[in-house]
Amino acid sequence: FNVPAPVNEPVKAYAPGSPERKELQAMLAELRAKQIDVPMYIGSEEVRTGNTRAMSPPHDHQHILGHFHEGDASHVEQAINAALGAKEAWENLEWEQRAAIFLKAAELIAGPYRAKINAATMLGQSKNAMQAEIDSACEFIDFLRFNVKYMTEIYAQQPPVSGGGVWNRVEQRPLEGFVFALTPFNFTAIAGNLPTSAAMMGNTIVWKPAYTQIYSAQVLMEVFKEAGVPDGVINLIYVDGPVAGEVIFKHPDFAGIHFTGSTGVFQHIWKTIGENIHRYKSYPRIVGETGGKDFVLAHKSADAKAVAVGLVRGAFEYQGQKCSAASRAYIPSNLWEDVKKYMLADLADIKMGGTEDFTNFVNAVIDEKSFDKIAKYIDNAKATPGVEIIAGGNYDKSKGYFIEPTVILTQDPMYTTMCEEIFGPVLTIYVYHEEHFETVLELVDQTSPYALTGAVFSQDRYAIELATQKLRNAAGNFYINDKPTGAVVGQQPFGGARASGTNDKAGSMINLLRWVSPRTIKETF
Ligand code: GLU
Repeated sequence: FNVPAPVNEPVKAYAPGSPERKELQAMLAELRAKQIDVPMYIGSEEVRTGNTRAMSPPHDHQHILGHFHEGDASHVEQAINAALGAKEAWENLEWEQRAAIFLKAAELIAGPYRAKINAATMLGQSKNAMQAEIDSACEFIDFLRFNVKYMTEIYAQQPPVSGGGVWNRVEQRPLEGFVFALTPFNFTAIAGNLPTSAAMMGNTIVWKPAYTQIYSAQVLMEVFKEAGVPDGVINLIYVDGPVAGEVIFKHPDFAGIHFTGSTGVFQHIWKTIGENIHRYKSYPRIVGETGGKDFVLAHKSADAKAVAVGLVRGAFEYQGQKCSAASRAYIPSNLWEDVKKYMLADLADIKMGGTEDFTNFVNAVIDEKSFDKIAKYIDNAKATPGVEIIAGGNYDKSKGYFIEPTVILTQDPMYTTMCEEIFGPVLTIYVYHEEHFETVLELVDQTSPYALTGAVFSQDRYAIELATQKLRNAAGNFYINDKPTGAVVGQQPFGGARASGTNDKAGSMINLLRWVSPRTIKETF
């Protein structure tokens, strides 16, 4: 099984004057200048319901990028039927052919579609060029290439012992039924990975992206078609969540969900599946990555500058809208003045504004609902005694949903913004007495129900060891002397436990194994 050895796609720098920057700028201008009409893709059909909704850049909400056609319950049924109809041919296709299709998709994104996917992510989701490059192009290419490798390893797994007139074998069957991929706005790569990883293993998919990601989702769909994903294998629908859920979770052929999104929605889905359990042919696979309240903990021995850089990048890249974003920090009193100085200096250099100006680091948050929620946390902080805003704190939604990178300082380690997921550019810092490291470890572990990512900064091996042990269950991705964001496929498999998800590590063999249901065959001669 000699598939190409996966390598991480090199990240392009988009330096001023570089050909890739010119190409990307031309693509941004081209996409901005036209309005596209986006159908749903169900089986071989492009479905236009006429019930259209506008898509706008969050940083420029009066500008219209195009419209998508919203569907209803009947389209969910159609998508399920299309997925079930395509199933037999797809699962019987040699797995090498499925691998080839997804390797081709990776090459299309690495080459001819790179600028388009990045530009669509930059406009539709307000990412800067670097964040788009990392999360839409490179990470998705990596997901596809590495998953193909893991898939090979699954199909090539050591067979069970045979002999004495008996031949035992294990067949990696896809699940019986269809898989529902419910995908988030914040990473185009995740939106692509959730349907494709399950499809790779022979499943057919109903894919419902977040409404705020449809603009780049349809570019992914173009890639899938061009790569040769057969009609009906991945069906892309835009239907209101509860309407889609009502059909999907009552369907006897519902075989599993691949989800990234909020903890609340995931828990609701889990309960709904439980209530409908008697309807299904099989127990559905439930794979989800959900919220986080990710920490940065510095020890008194840490390098203050490294901590400051980790905080600024970890908290404010993509406006803090990563499940992995640093959002609570515990800084020892001996380092605080230095960390603060470096952090404020870094923040003073950060420019905020739209995608089109490549010097902007911080852009708008995804939509008005999110803006209002984040602004409320900031207002509460302004009004709370003992809580101080030491950077940012301003917001404006007149043109786009802009919120300044905001740093809150609190004397109460259980203050709301130390505990609740905000999903925006807000970092809360608690300064602890430098000798109380061990007490703080307990605090870090117990403050929030989540356990996605976390970072410890220390030059002291004993402190690193202690934190690694005591915070064993506090993060699924644990970083030592680095920011808690930016996991790379094939290098740091990503996912968390507790309220952060089922920890089936995106981009790993563990994940792909959730999309097969093995059959053991014993043949006696
Ligand atoms: N994998 C991403 C990271 O390491 C986060 C994914 C997410 O936000 O869901 O930063």
